[in-house]
Order: sequence, then C-alpha cells, then structure tokens
Amino acid sequence: MTQLDTRTLQKLDAEHHLHPFNDNAALAKKGTRILTKGEGCYVWDADGNQLLDAFAGLWCVNIGYGRKELGEVASKQMTHLAYYNSFFQCTTEPTIALAAKLAELAPGDLNHSFFVNSGSEANDTILRMVRHFWAVQDQPQKNIFIGRHDGYHGTTMAGASLGGMKGMHKQGGLPIPDIHHIDPPFWFADGGDLSEDEYGLVAARRLEQKILELGPDRVAAFIGEPIMGAIGVYIPPKTYWPEIERICRQYDVLLVADEVICGFGRTGEWFGSQYFGFQPDIMPIAKGITSGYIPLGAAMFNDRVAKVLKEQGGELAHGATYSGHPVCAAVALENIRILQDEKIVETAKTEIAPYLAQRWAELGEHRLVGQARIAGMVGALELVPDKGKRAFFPERGTVGPRCRDHALKHGLILRATWDAMLLSPPLIITREQVDELFDKTWKALNDTATDLGM
Ligand SMILES: *Cc1c(COP(=O)(O)O)cnc(C)c1O
Repeated sequence: MTQLDTRTLQKLDAEHHLHPFNDNAALAKKGTRILTKGEGCYVWDADGNQLLDAFAGLWCVNIGYGRKELGEVASKQMTHLAYYNSFFQCTTEPTIALAAKLAELAPGDLNHSFFVNSGSEANDTILRMVRHFWAVQDQPQKNIFIGRHDGYHGTTMAGASLGGMKGMHKQGGLPIPDIHHIDPPFWFADGGDLSEDEYGLVAARRLEQKILELGPDRVAAFIGEPIMGAIGVYIPPKTYWPEIERICRQYDVLLVADEVICGFGRTGEWFGSQYFGFQPDIMPIAKGITSGYIPLGAAMFNDRVAKVLKEQGGELAHGATYSGHPVCAAVALENIRILQDEKIVETAKTEIAPYLAQRWAELGEHRLVGQARIAGMVGALELVPDKGKRAFFPERGTVGPRCRDHALKHGLILRATWDAMLLSPPLIITREQVDELFDKTWKALNDTATDLGM
C-alpha cells in the first residue's frame, strides 16, 4: 500500500504526528510500530511480524479483521448516498434502520438512539441531555453526575470528567463542575477480609452514602462501566450492580451503564448489563457497534427519558455534523448482521469463553500471577511480587509493560495497565488460537519472572 520504508515512516511520524495516550518524546526515540494488515485475529506490522491480537485493536474488533462485507457495504453506501445530515428535519435510510435495530437488540425499553462519532461524544451527549431532562421538569438543581475514581468514559471534557483518572484530570483543569466520584469496586486491592459478595454490597453502598451526602434532589445520574476496562478489567462481584440499581431507583437517580467496551458481545451477552442482571436507563455505545471498522457512537435512552426529551425538550441544541452518518450506520448494520447470522456472541459464550476461562485460570497458576480474572471474553492477569498476598509491586507499573514487550517478542499483543495484563480478543478466536494465546502468554510471564530474578 505504501512505498515508504519503515524507518522513513517512523521518522515522518515522529516529526508530524502527535500520538494520543503516549509520551511523544519517548515514542519518537523508540519509533512507532506501524501496522499494515489484519486478518481474523492476526495483524501484521511493517517489519513483517505476524501478531496474535489478543486485545482486538482497542477492545473493538469483535468480528475480527478483514471482513470484506463491511468494506463492500461502505463502498455501496458511499456511491449511492455518501452523506446527508439528520439536522434539518431529515435523515437517511440506514440511520433509521440502525436506530430500529438497536432498539430491538438493547435490553428493556432502551428504544431511542442519539448518534455521534465516538464513545466520548456519547457521554457528552448524556451529560447534557440528562441535565436537560431534569431541568425541563423543574429540577435544574438535579444536575450532579456521580462516577467512579479510575473509571474511564473517554477524553472529551465531559468524558474525562465523568471518568476518574487523576492523570487525565490534571490536564485541562478537570473535572468540570458538579461531577463527583466514589471508589471503584476492586476486591483484589480493596476487599480486605470480606468475601467478594459481601464486598460488592459495601462497594455499591458508597453510592448511597454519596447521594445522601450531596442530597438526592441534587443527583441526576450515576455512570459506570459494567466492567471497568481501561483501569485494568475490574470485574465487580455479582452483588454489586443489583445493589447499585436498587439505590438508583430508591433515590430516582438515572442509571447510566457505559457499554462502550461491554456492548456487542464482549461478556458473552449482547450487553454487560445482561451479564450482571440489571437494567440501565441510559447507555453509551461505540467500539464493537462497528467492530472498529468505522467510527460510530450512540447514546441510547429508555422510554421515560426519551419521552421527556421529545415532548418537553424543545429543540435539542446538540448534535454533530456526522450524527447518524449513513456510511457508518450501514457498516454498523452489516457488523450486527454478521454477529447475529454467524451466532458469534452465542458461540463465544457457550464454546469459547468456557475454554478461555479454563486456560486463563491455568495462567493464574504462574508464580507471577496474583489473580486471573475473566468474564466472558474480557479478562486480566494481575502480576504481583508475592503470590500469596493481594498486594501490588512496590513501584507499580514497571512490570506490566515489561511483560507486554516480552509478549510482543513472542508474537502476541496484550495490553498492560499498571501491572495487569489485559485480555480482550476478537470474539471469533478459535480454541487453537486460545492455545496459542496461552503458550505465548506463559512464555512472556516466564521471561518477565526471569528479568525479576523470581
Ligand atoms: C473507549 C471508551 C470510551 C470512549 O470512547 P471513544 O470512542 O474512544 O471516544 C468511553 N467509555 C468506555 C468504557 C470506553 O472504553
């Protein structure tokens, strides 16, 4: 595709491209890894290395790489009607069809989609629309969002504020006003002597304490990822979400499940809320909606919220040029068709996830692994200095990247957050590829342990 050699590309990249979530000076010195091709669960880099992508790009390539149908649909839609807006009392066929399809797929009465281009924008949309929802019902003071420390909801001003990453808050003067955070449910580090189920209730009741502290008439919504992804795949105890739901109902606080990672099959269910058995009022979706083939996000609202926005909301002064873009909508529909027709979510749940869980538990036996956690097709290995204890390395975040680099050397892409190795493969991964994943991860763990003299 490109005529330039790798070194030239790296040089141009260092000179002209500012990378997100990178120390750009360090990266310029090291040189970017340039990916050139993808097929199924594998990608290739510009040096010709074949890599098993156990992270599905960035939690998103659910149907795997190289599905020609998506390109064909995009090409057809671009040729037929490349663009039209949804602003001026207009829209397009694929946009309508996608909204209807999402209403059919989404749990309960989440029947209404507001389209945007990313997960971050979906969360911006939700922040504004929820405050508007309460304001037009004579409760303008009910405007506070509660999120969680270490949560991730994207990087726009609202997304990064709703999230609870301190490093992100530092850049740009965040959080914006009237956003508060509670501690996340992370039994491994925070559970003490409690059982996981006991701890789940304790962690959920932090929300109740925060609502009472702020005043229920001030709290508009609670937002959380069903499984906290970016911080290290924190899988809450099964008691957590039903208790969160009870608290939200009791104080009339809207429940927002950020399904940007969990949606579209990641847990073996279509949505993370179904995995944990609770019903959100609102959910942002993105990533897996198009398997990452094209950018698209949506904020989905239930009947109650949509009714108020439609009947009392007046003109919604919000939207993007590409809200409901017909090409993105057509690609999303084709992606969903493939997920459904090929029973990819069901197969992941019944055939692959149990095997993946078994092999992941085997990795948990490694002397470097303190906990092997997994839910469906998403998991993490928590690397620790002392296998018997639930405690981190004293200097957190140096061992994980080392293990990640060893994995790469063996032809495997795993992500490291602090010292947790994160897993989120394409849902189409086969048993043989799970074995390959196991072998390569084991080798990377061995190499890392050797480095540490363990
Ligand atoms: C990735 C992500 C987002 C942000 O989505 P973008 O498309 O990157 O803006 C929001 N929430 C969660 C849970 C995510 O993982």
